[in-house]
Amino acid sequence: MKDARKLVRPLVRKLQPYVPGEQPKIKGLIKLNTNENPYPPSPRVLRAVKAAVDGRLRLYPNPAAQALREKLAKFHGCKPENIIVGNGSDELLALATRAFVETRSAERGVRNDSRAVVQYFTPSYSLYSVLAAIHGARANAVPLESNFGIPAVAELRRAKKWNFRAALTFITTPNAPSGRGYSTAELEALCRVQKGVMILDEAYVDFAEENALKLALKYPHVLVSRTFSKAYSLCFQRVGYFIGDNELIAALDKVRDSYNVNGLGQVAALATLDELAYYRKNFQRIVATREQVARELTVLGFRVLPSQTNFLFVRPPAFPANGWLQKLRERKILVRWFNYPETKDFLRITIGSDDEMNALLKAAREILFRQRIGTMNGGARLRRALISNG
Ligand SMILES: *Cc1c(COP(=O)(O)O)cnc(C)c1O
Repeated sequence: MKDARKLVRPLVRKLQPYVPGEQPKIKGLIKLNTNENPYPPSPRVLRAVKAAVDGRLRLYPNPAAQALREKLAKFHGCKPENIIVGNGSDELLALATRAFVETRSAERGVRNDSRAVVQYFTPSYSLYSVLAAIHGARANAVPLESNFGIPAVAELRRAKKWNFRAALTFITTPNAPSGRGYSTAELEALCRVQKGVMILDEAYVDFAEENALKLALKYPHVLVSRTFSKAYSLCFQRVGYFIGDNELIAALDKVRDSYNVNGLGQVAALATLDELAYYRKNFQRIVATREQVARELTVLGFRVLPSQTNFLFVRPPAFPANGWLQKLRERKILVRWFNYPETKDFLRITIGSDDEMNALLKAAREILFRQRIGTMNGGARLRRALISNG
């Protein structure tokens, strides 16, 4: 065998994989690029995880994350059968495409077949299109309004791009990367007319004013996705979950690996649910910092979109956004830039600790100050050139 590439399915050969935010290990780097929580897990959570690290690591964990599902069910006012836990919510989003969506090859020439359609708004979480591609499904990407609002149902009908029968629809709510929040009322209006499965991806909902959990408990085709990663400072442990109708949950349960949630992750998530007061304080701190930084960036000339998340989506002044990305990086501050037409003028900045955000603001002031000096000098040179030529 000369060329091992030929052993790979053509679909996989051509696949553009998901590109996660960088995780560089540079000393002193201020990392505001992947929406991690700046505050550590509660000391009790750390103690619980440490106490679980001993000879028992040789054993398999509970295959159904039973204790965690029972505790989550109590917390959310539903039954354990309404909950599935995953290796991060990312795993569950992938399982949903496998369980609910046909592949294109299964369409067999049926025109306007919706059974192979994965649908989402753009911009939103960029994993969805990759999941559709991996599965061999059809992606239907429908633009949000220019202010990142969800178009009203009447508008979606009029524009004829939205597929009301799509097998699976992902909605990031609050939206990423814009940070915009959506009311439960507008989400419900869409849920009511949508025929296929809808996943409301609430990765950032703890920083928002509203959540749409009740829609998952009311409509059999609606699932809500949550994660311990962002709000509960547990990215490293990889624990997320879906809430919804027991038939949909049972379908997902059939296609998952038997031990999909690692044991230490289950321990950490269980301990987290006993420490909600600690985390609520963190949400409040992050929201307060977010609002403060939004005001200060606005003063510096940034256009700051309203945020219901732990990040800000901002349109910077003076240089293109990717120029800012580089200039901040030179000052050891890492933020995120998405190179799509509707996002390329913006930076996404995770809300860090107060010290980290002060460093960001200081860097932004320096960058702007240098730019002004630069244009002044440039202006003087230009004037001299004009005078000597004139
Ligand atoms: C971070 C994120 C996820 C993934 O979270 P994990 O539980 O860490 O896999 C899902 N959806 C959105 C919108 C996110 O930003």
